[in-house]
Amino acid sequence: MPPAAPDVLRVALPVPLPREFDYLPPAGTGAGPDWVGCRVRVPFGRGGGEMVGVVVATGPADGDPAALKSIHERLDKGALLHGELLESLRWVAAYYHAPLGEVVATALPTLLRTGQPLPDTRRHGWVATAEGRAQATEAGREGRPRQLLRQLIDGPCDEDDLDVRLPGWRSAARTLARRGLAERVVCEGPVAPRPVAAPEPMPGQAAAMQALRGGEGFRAVLLEGVTGSGKTEVYLQAIADCLVAGRQALVLVPEIGLTPQTLARFRARLGVPVLAFHSGLGDGERARAWADMASGRGRVLVGTRSAVFCPLPDAGLLVVDEEHDGSYKQQDGVRYHARDLALVRGSKLGVPVLLGSATPSLESLHNALSGRYRHLRLAERAGGARPPSVRVLDVRKRPLRDGLSEDLLDAVGACLARGEQALVFKNRRGYAPVLICHDCGWSAHCARCDAAMTVHAGGRRLICHHCGARATPPNACPDCASLALQPQGAGTERLEQALAARFPDACLVRVDRETTRRRDALEKHLARLGDGPGILVGTQILAKGHDLPRLTLVAVVGVDEGLFSADFRAGEKLAQLLIQVAGRAGRAQLPGEVVLQTHHPDHPLLGTLLNGGYPAVAALQLAEREAAAFPPYAHLALLRAEAGTEALVQAFLHEAHAAFEAREGVHANGPMPAPMARRAGMARGQLLVDASQRGALHAALRDWLPAIRALPSARRVRWSLDVDPTDLY
Ligand code: ADP
Ligand code: ZN
Ligand code: ZN
Repeated sequence: MPPAAPDVLRVALPVPLPREFDYLPPAGTGAGPDWVGCRVRVPFGRGGGEMVGVVVATGPADGDPAALKSIHERLDKGALLHGELLESLRWVAAYYHAPLGEVVATALPTLLRTGQPLPDTRRHGWVATAEGRAQATEAGREGRPRQLLRQLIDGPCDEDDLDVRLPGWRSAARTLARRGLAERVVCEGPVAPRPVAAPEPMPGQAAAMQALRGGEGFRAVLLEGVTGSGKTEVYLQAIADCLVAGRQALVLVPEIGLTPQTLARFRARLGVPVLAFHSGLGDGERARAWADMASGRGRVLVGTRSAVFCPLPDAGLLVVDEEHDGSYKQQDGVRYHARDLALVRGSKLGVPVLLGSATPSLESLHNALSGRYRHLRLAERAGGARPPSVRVLDVRKRPLRDGLSEDLLDAVGACLARGEQALVFKNRRGYAPVLICHDCGWSAHCARCDAAMTVHAGGRRLICHHCGARATPPNACPDCASLALQPQGAGTERLEQALAARFPDACLVRVDRETTRRRDALEKHLARLGDGPGILVGTQILAKGHDLPRLTLVAVVGVDEGLFSADFRAGEKLAQLLIQVAGRAGRAQLPGEVVLQTHHPDHPLLGTLLNGGYPAVAALQLAEREAAAFPPYAHLALLRAEAGTEALVQAFLHEAHAAFEAREGVHANGPMPAPMARRAGMARGQLLVDASQRGALHAALRDWLPAIRALPSARRVRWSLDVDPTDLY
């Protein structure tokens, strides 16, 4: 009888192949189940290359074990990816049809992905030395170091705790250490939560709390409430419950929502260290937050999209704030949706998932209306603030100066005269969206994209917002030599100039991607505005975030672009944006006003929004989607391709289409040009697959992908599959 084949380690490696790789454990050791979830360093490829991967299973070798290589090194003693997390990653791989190795690499923070050890998560604290205790009671100068010293005389204080209690304590600690008055020590034991008293919940909030408290296990709750209606308060109380039960909580926020103010509010209220996780952190900080949650020491993590991958060994609650936000969808690599993954994790973990929004996505609303989610509404604004009044400014045949009507300027002037603040919103940065020739109609286009160049720097520069190309505007029209070149339309830069000219004494702050490149820039800008009268002009960066109690007027300029877009989601997105921006007006005691400047005052979307608010728009849009068989009533996947020439893209897409096996209820459509058929010099095209049933769609994709990979033409293009695409280009 031949000896039984030894068990091997199945390793997921970050390579674009839909399979795992078998390796032998080091000589003399068995491939026991304790390997699963551990990182290993393995030989890969010719020339002595190495890779870091994660063991995802063990089992008997498929082929000849003598042909297998041994791993070079085991990097973790215990599993880094435990049961539920590994299961959820398998779900991501299956649902988005991505190789598990790439999913694992996407999930891990950079340091861990590259094989660095799990960071030390022992807590450190500070304590006064004997000398320090003696000095603390003597008379002396009352500065930060002394304040800190007094905190440290009764025993060690946790560093995370000091962050909450004494912001900016670190330099004081260094001063004390230099003088031998305090020292850094390792702290033992968990941090005791010190929650701050919560306000009495209003009836709507109480109902939401009840939905989360009653019952056990997974359930999805959609909390729909306008800005300022007290959603965050519900999150905080639910998290506080969860902490009392000794569980962890994960809070996802959109990219533009994670402000220092948000974190400070969570920290102050929960009385435990709240970990942050976002792309602005260093690799070390991110790995540490991840390790903290993995060890169970971290209790609450607030983070953007990729935080959805953090380990939650003691999970109690998952919250997705602004669940409709587009930034939850990853737009390259593994194209996962963090909200959807949060729901999957919640169901595998057996804990509630709370989705909050003033303007829920049609997908979530559909799930709520069909009874799969609990649907709760917060109707009023908390703290007595009233909803803003909305006025449509019909600007047809009215003169516009730099894109602004006289009525709008009057409203801004009146607001300033009351000593209050106005927000002028235009979702377009730069000076003007296009430079045109007034004589022949020529316009400045990007040489590498199917797109107009945006005018910047008051007309002195052209920039392509799609590929970043820069150019100097020509002096004369290249087509007709006319000198009548004019910037057409207005972006935030032009609005800022026009407002500065009209209100020379007002404090004016522009907020868009250009002025907020640095992470803390937004805070700085808003600090400059302070509490006095002033004008904010900016893009959707302003739609969310900071509370501005003196802001009473929101003037929306140029909603018209969004009214006539070809994208089937455009109406939903526009309504969400308008509600979000309007929500900035009158959040405190002062009443708010919203003015919408438009050339299409009779557009049904605007009328519905004004008369029935977001719920009416959503109902209308859902009916349209159902009639047209679009999501959430159908399921889509988009096969995108790009290459140096149009011919290569077409050849690939035609062959891919031919390889698609027809089946009931699933259709492949195309090839069709991408809405932007050329970008950064690459030709682009796509095939859209639609299906009435999700299961049928996935079965079709599972069969189709191996056929696509086998196409010779696939090697001559860059292609990707996007399941549940949110942007159709
Ligand atoms: P949202 O997250 O929906 O925008 P918030 O939770 O931030 O709303 O609440 C808006 C404001 O109302 C905040 O200043 C908050 O402190 C206050 N607030 C919320 N709930 C209550 C309550 N039950 N009683 C008093 N004030 C509340
Ligand atoms: Zn011309
Ligand atoms: Zn370009």
